[in-house]
Amino acid sequence: MPLRRFITLLATLAVGAATLVALPTAAQAAPNFKAPFGCNQRWTYSHHSAEVRRALDFIRSDGGTTNGAPVVASAAGTATRHYQGGGAGNYVVIDHGGGWKTYYFHLSSFSISNGQSVAQGQRIGTTGSTGGSTGPHIHYEQLYNGVGQNIRINGTALAYPGSYGSYHLTSDNCGGSGTTNFTTWGSGINVRSDARLSASVVTTLAGPTPVFVQCQKQGDTVNAEGTSNNWWSKLRDQNGYISNIYIDHPAAQLPGVPICGAGVQFQTWGSSVNVRADARTSAAIVTTLTGPTTVWVLCQKQGDTVTAEGVTNNWWAKLRDQNGFMTNIYIDHPDNQLPGVPNC
Ligand SMILES: [Zn+2]
Repeated sequence: MPLRRFITLLATLAVGAATLVALPTAAQAAPNFKAPFGCNQRWTYSHHSAEVRRALDFIRSDGGTTNGAPVVASAAGTATRHYQGGGAGNYVVIDHGGGWKTYYFHLSSFSISNGQSVAQGQRIGTTGSTGGSTGPHIHYEQLYNGVGQNIRINGTALAYPGSYGSYHLTSDNCGGSGTTNFTTWGSGINVRSDARLSASVVTTLAGPTPVFVQCQKQGDTVNAEGTSNNWWSKLRDQNGYISNIYIDHPAAQLPGVPICGAGVQFQTWGSSVNVRADARTSAAIVTTLTGPTTVWVLCQKQGDTVTAEGVTNNWWAKLRDQNGFMTNIYIDHPDNQLPGVPNC
């Protein structure tokens, strides 16, 4: 190994050691977990004596139907699918990194592929009663290093009542920044792989559906329901486009939704900043920004934690023109997440 590289390695190890000393406690390291059910819904919860670990069971208390309600990721991470007959039934585990995982039991169906990255608020399954369950509910757990923790939502510890009805939780799990929650109308609405009537059908919305719109763009003109509109919305969870006609807003363009593919402009700082193929420090280097550079950020996601310049951050930005990811640390904004940028 050349001496210079050896010295760099030593410096890196020294930084690593310093980081270890500064590791926060478990409670501080927890992601900001949000409710495991949809935006603005109100559910009641309980913990019974036969419950595994520190779980809470949730059923709706806002007049909506529990069975069939979407189950959503309480924080971003990597989701895996599992089945346990007579116990958890169909269940999802989301690994949030840093030793933290969340569990969601008794699903009637999965909405993710095994090993898929999910954003906070993204639908991962449908509430059901599979496995050892006496009725539809979401059995939800937060684990740290495999041990069930007392559940905290938005940093606040929930109560552990013995029956439903005394404590309620209203979800503010409304999707990441730059992703906007709408409801569709109409029935049999096709979601297509692009904003064209000839594009393949990805899925069909049977009836009114809560959707997260990532961005909108112009495509084929659609005439329906007495309206003509060539704007289409990209739906995050369905990963396809629908005509804006079927979204609960009368204008051609949806309010507060960015244009697809344009990105948000920022300035980088620092020198020799690597752009990588993924949000991991081990991913291949696509290019290197020699100095401050104007970039267009398409989206952002959580990846490897980077400590540099006195800042620790696991959010990475996807750069449109460089077609790769860089840590948000070197972008001209102090927060972990960039404002106005959707999650990838
Ligand atoms: Zn349970």
